[in-house]
Amino acid sequence: MRAAINTGLRAGVGRCDITPAPGTPQGGWGAQTHQRGLEADMPMYASAIVLEQGDTRVLIVDADAIGFNAEWTEKILAALAELTGIPKANIRFSCTHTHAGPNTFRLENILEGRDMAQNYLESLPARIAGAAWCAMKAMVDVRVGAKTGASYINRNRRVFAPDGECIVGVNDEATADHSLGAIRFDREDGTCLASIVHYACHPTICGWQNIRFTPDYPGPMRETVEREISGMCFFLQGAAGDLGPRKGFTGDLNVYRKLGHELGLAAAAMLAEIDTHPEQATYRATVPSGANIAEYSYAPLAQAVPVTAMISRGVSLPTRKLESEAEIAEKLSQLRAEVQDLRTKGNLEQMRRVQARATQMGWRFQNAQLYGSVSHVAWPVQVIRIGDIALVSTAGEPFSSIGERIRKQSLFSFTFVSGYSNGGFGYIPDRQAYVEGGYEVAATPFSPDAADVLVQECLHMLHELFEQ
Ligand SMILES: [Zn+2]
Repeated sequence: MRAAINTGLRAGVGRCDITPAPGTPQGGWGAQTHQRGLEADMPMYASAIVLEQGDTRVLIVDADAIGFNAEWTEKILAALAELTGIPKANIRFSCTHTHAGPNTFRLENILEGRDMAQNYLESLPARIAGAAWCAMKAMVDVRVGAKTGASYINRNRRVFAPDGECIVGVNDEATADHSLGAIRFDREDGTCLASIVHYACHPTICGWQNIRFTPDYPGPMRETVEREISGMCFFLQGAAGDLGPRKGFTGDLNVYRKLGHELGLAAAAMLAEIDTHPEQATYRATVPSGANIAEYSYAPLAQAVPVTAMISRGVSLPTRKLESEAEIAEKLSQLRAEVQDLRTKGNLEQMRRVQARATQMGWRFQNAQLYGSVSHVAWPVQVIRIGDIALVSTAGEPFSSIGERIRKQSLFSFTFVSGYSNGGFGYIPDRQAYVEGGYEVAATPFSPDAADVLVQECLHMLHELFEQ
């Protein structure tokens, strides 16, 4: 047992299995030709950590899911708030964005097994809330520490085809944010209760050819950290809008296991170096020996109380001019009928082509439906402070330059910026991306000014928390 000075910070963790049943529709890809997934290659989880200091409680959930629309995000948040009693404003619900999981949105696109997808979705709020409830039942005193490093499993994913089109692939020439963040929560005896790993990379290693459910690289990453460090490991996806794996879009399951393991070892090495129980050594006596040895006494160093606080806000992001809903609805229903027809005829190659167009049209339809009549959208943004660590999160998929700008201008020692939290879909490209074009720009509802607004608002919120 190590001596320690209590800092007033408490934490608890809980986890539930959210692996879909075999046969549930799998749906991360417009290019896929199968509908249902086989049994999982690795379990998918929702993990919850509750932090408590004085009267403040903050809940963070890490879920192996591609994402949810605003309606289902709201249902999950409501279930979490009801079961835990923690107000929604103090809950961060984050998805890893794995593309190898079941369909969790736009179920109307599913041609076979929609009932199973619906059942799966409906089962989630209560299951995820259960994980958070377990966390509340297991609160203990903790110490916290953090570290930053790097991992090189990601690359810039925006690449130009020979015909000049900006497509999604691996661009070794363009810069990419390789920064890796690690946070460690230790019990008073020094053992690890929980760790949070933060990294930006699309979980698109398993591609459209893969027919097994997997959490993609975050799964083996967490498994590696939990084996090496112990405790429960959480993954928080970074600002990964333009970042993907250095090898991906494959049906070879060994690739996600290998890259996840590589990321996990890098994170574990950093976590192993974090000392949450610093001590002061004082010389006491000389012990006669072959070489005389200095004997020390050790006293725990007092640590500053890690102020825990959270701000949740709807940041007003400018939208761009979108097409008319009626026009796209017509095109979309035609494309869907064509997909169904080609599927019945067994023409899978042609079906893939039309399905890809239907997927793209689906994004445009959704944008027109949700944002067609407004000039600004209240976009969910949250900042959590744990001492000198700040966790910034937004809904949708911010480009990595947005995360880097916030991190570099933040006053906190550690600032980890994420997307994929507390909301629906939508890329937030940087200004340069609008010049280059490509998928993310075609699919975004936002104007080129949105990135600057988001950076400024996040910095304001960070400043407010820093002053507390
Ligand atoms: Zn994405």
